[in-house]
Amino acid sequence: AKIFKISDIQGRLLKEREYEINEANGSLHRLEQSRRRLVSDISHELGTPMTSIQGYLRAMLDGIVAPDPENLKMVYEKVLLVNQLVEDLFELSKLEFGQPAFDLKRIQPDVLADDLVRRFGADIRQRGFRFESSLALPSPAAGALFLSVDTMRIEQVMNNLISNALKYTAPGGTIRLCFRFIYPDEAPLPQKTPVSLQIRVVDNGPGIDEAARAQVFDRFYRADRSRQEEGAGLGLAIAKQIVIGHGGQIGLESQLGKGSTFYFTLPLTATPPGVSAYSQSGK
Ligand code: ADP
Repeated sequence: AKIFKISDIQGRLLKEREYEINEANGSLHRLEQSRRRLVSDISHELGTPMTSIQGYLRAMLDGIVAPDPENLKMVYEKVLLVNQLVEDLFELSKLEFGQPAFDLKRIQPDVLADDLVRRFGADIRQRGFRFESSLALPSPAAGALFLSVDTMRIEQVMNNLISNALKYTAPGGTIRLCFRFIYPDEAPLPQKTPVSLQIRVVDNGPGIDEAARAQVFDRFYRADRSRQEEGAGLGLAIAKQIVIGHGGQIGLESQLGKGSTFYFTLPLTATPPGVSAYSQSGK
């Protein structure tokens, strides 16, 4: 039998304690680093348009640039950009650190899919793109299941994904919305119950390379920084937080030169007996 000396045990405990302290220091350090990075990102993102606003206004005051409607419009658009950035940042911080106030309502998956196709299809066509949609939702299953979602928030996610697809794909391209059930195992046998609804936004734009694929959901990430007027790189970070807040997952498949598919899932629940899943009130 081993006999431990008190000093051995004390020594081991001390080592463990030391290890814990180091670990805690490490995560504090990482937290501090990410806080610093955030502050510097925010200053940079706000600083760039502010410098340009200041430059324009100074030039107008000095009489170098005429304060005509065209130049004023340029300044105004920069102000809108700053405003959008501040709003998006506030939104993201509420989603990440606060209690996201989701207004959850019960809705059938096929009803949500129809709503989204109607809501976005016309918009996409109007912008000069081809629009396609496909619903692979077996209706008996759809009838017995519901989603618990904040439809406004899901529309916000869709809006972010679709406006990216429109922004990065050349006009005349095709945007496709696909809705399908995800089953617990690979094979969708009729007796199996799907666990989630997957919504896919497919474009045939430039695609996203592998290095960028790992980062697109990070805040402030933009693959092409030269497209400055096009947003601050917060859209996908916000979309991700909303999807996670609904208990879902968000992801991306892409092939350079072929296009990108952004998808997210929303968990499905069996409709309790005696309750109509068509009820959108959730009460
Ligand atoms: P933003 O569009 O404001 O730059 P997002 O967070 O919405 O920010 O997107 C982050 C980056 O991901 C974009 O800057 C772009 O590089 C890339 N991206 C997003 N969607 C697409 C898409 N459909 N096709 C190609 N690139 C995309």
